[in-house]
Amino acid sequence: MSIHWNLSDAIAPDEAAVGVDVGGTKTLAIAYSAHGPVAEARVPTAPGLDGVLHSLASAVRRIRADISHLTLRSIGVGIPGIVDTASGTVSHGVNVGISGANVPLGPKASAELGLPVHVVNDATAATLGAAHAAGAARDAALISIGTGLAAGIILDGKPRLGYRDSAGEIGHIPYVKDGLPCRCGQRGCLELYASGRALDRMWPTPPGVKAGVDVFSHADRGDPHAVAARDEWVSAIAHAVTIIGLTFDVEAILIGGGVSDIGEPFERQLIARLQDQARSSAFLTHMGLAERIALVPPGLAVGALGACLAGLDAL
Ligand SMILES: [Zn+2]
Repeated sequence: MSIHWNLSDAIAPDEAAVGVDVGGTKTLAIAYSAHGPVAEARVPTAPGLDGVLHSLASAVRRIRADISHLTLRSIGVGIPGIVDTASGTVSHGVNVGISGANVPLGPKASAELGLPVHVVNDATAATLGAAHAAGAARDAALISIGTGLAAGIILDGKPRLGYRDSAGEIGHIPYVKDGLPCRCGQRGCLELYASGRALDRMWPTPPGVKAGVDVFSHADRGDPHAVAARDEWVSAIAHAVTIIGLTFDVEAILIGGGVSDIGEPFERQLIARLQDQARSSAFLTHMGLAERIALVPPGLAVGALGACLAGLDAL
């Protein structure tokens, strides 16, 4: 799959729309025109409803000055927590200090900024953004590999969140019998073997050196320990891809999160591993999982892009 996109189907030439990714430490706001990003601002996230509102408003005000020649149509906001998209309320957004239930972020932000503000969960926003960028907006999954491992899923153009908001929590599918203990209470969960934290455990590095980039470059130079660690980790990621592929059979299986900055060497190894698996199985050959994957480019802010798209879609 290739990542190549614009927004000309969603935004008119004289218009703009904003997407905001509210994270635990920073808030990133990007203004998009039909051709792509035109302005961005990054501010620290202050905690709680008032803090988030303040961070949001100051980031949006900064970019508004840069797009005064365009008509701003909407603002979409992605934020951690359980979001009721119809009412714009947020519950259990513990990463941003919103610990209560049904906190009215959307209506308050809309009143403050004088524009429609649509709020979505941040992982959903990232999935929408990645799917759009891959040209598979109706049928895609984003496997996010960071500290943990989880997937966002879009089926028939709609995010599938699940009955208990847990669709795509593949990181807690047991992978190793009687394996390492997991914070979820089980043992041997997949995220203990297929995450950024797993790489840090398998390939300890000095401070400031990223385990992923380091292990792949050592492996490329033929270090047998690095090859073993890399292959074990890539096999676990391939298992995650296989779970998503066989469960949802989506058109695009995108890989994002912190480890995507390993880049091409990671994509190459993952494709090789999936092709290897397929060689021994006519069924997996038919599934063609290796052809469906793509790494989200590290510079592509899928969270802000997806929030922007959700905001436009809600108009
Ligand atoms: Zn677990």
